[in-house]
Amino acid sequence: MKILAELESERKYAGMYERLFNKNNIGTTFSIGILCCLAAHIFYLITFAVNHVTEMTVFNIFSVTMYFSMLIAAHHIKKLDTLTYISIAEIIIHAAAATCLIGWQPDFGMFLLMIIPATFLIPHKKVYPPYITAFVSIVTYVILRLNITDQAQVKYNFTDHRIIALITIVNAIMGTNTLIYSSAGYILYRKYLEYNLACLATLDPLTKLRNRRDMNERIKQISSAGKKYVIGIGDIDSFKNVNDTYGHDTGDTVLVYVAEVLSRNIPDNGYVARWGGEEFLFIIADSDTDAGVSYTEKIHKELRSHVFSVGEREFGVTMTFGVSCGSAGDNKDSVINTADQLLYTGKNNGKNHTEY
Ligand code: GH3
Ligand code: MG
Ligand code: MG
Repeated sequence: MKILAELESERKYAGMYERLFNKNNIGTTFSIGILCCLAAHIFYLITFAVNHVTEMTVFNIFSVTMYFSMLIAAHHIKKLDTLTYISIAEIIIHAAAATCLIGWQPDFGMFLLMIIPATFLIPHKKVYPPYITAFVSIVTYVILRLNITDQAQVKYNFTDHRIIALITIVNAIMGTNTLIYSSAGYILYRKYLEYNLACLATLDPLTKLRNRRDMNERIKQISSAGKKYVIGIGDIDSFKNVNDTYGHDTGDTVLVYVAEVLSRNIPDNGYVARWGGEEFLFIIADSDTDAGVSYTEKIHKELRSHVFSVGEREFGVTMTFGVSCGSAGDNKDSVINTADQLLYTGKNNGKNHTEY
């Protein structure tokens, strides 16, 4: 819809967030994270087994089993928060145990720091888990730093630099991956929130036209530009009858249809808003009464030829408009008032036409 032009870029990201994190898809998105953890732990398992690091081999058999089970169950799991906490605990314990046993060289300790921003960025229902993670992680890191100061004191001291290099590279990729994954998700989530807030602040929820609040901003902007402009107010004729005869839902359908006609026909230099219940206001910049009237003529023509049907019954709606022109020195409120009075005159003069 044309009216959303300035929200278009936000909508793209919001849509992406909805596709990735909606209820049906969260399993797929979550699976990608689990798959990365699984792949990394298969690598750790093989590396520790080949180098006879028994404790870490056993630990990684557990980790691989855990991530594999999560992967299979991802699409059925409801409590994703719990799974996130289990993964975080696994990462912290794995990092601490590996550092204890093989020292700082392949840098498993890095995960104790990297996990902190990640836990804050991953959406949680509760507020405190990231603080607990941060506390546990940083205390573990400091204790390890203070106690493991000499590579010679660790139980398994890798001497082959190729192995150290390989593990370091995998760790760097996994650490970066964790941060990018959580940050990118967070940025999308923020875009999604911003888009929804912008919609709430700008749009009328039923018709998706601009709301009165936003329209007042547009009017202020255009009327203060020092050029001519035209304002029109239109009201659906005998709309109460539509509600009374066909029900409120049909009334809503009519409002949505009228809004679509108004929005489709508004010129590029114009805006149209839902001003009140069944009342709409438009403004066209750099234009005079003629442009306003010719816009309303298009609306009259489309509405007069459209037939609404409810079951077997058919009906049509018409609108009455009041159109008033403003220029540099005019007070915008008096231009609006003039349009409103002309609308009132139009209602008394048989409706279904434009007064100017
Ligand atoms: P007139 O030709 O003089 O404008 O008559 P009217 O019946 O259109 O005017 P009136 O002000 O008597 O009635 C307007 C009706 O619009 C009353 C109100 O219930 C209805 N209305 C306002 N907002 C909505 C809405 O969001 N949905 C529906 N279905 N009806 C609405
Ligand atoms: Mg009306
Ligand atoms: Mg009205």
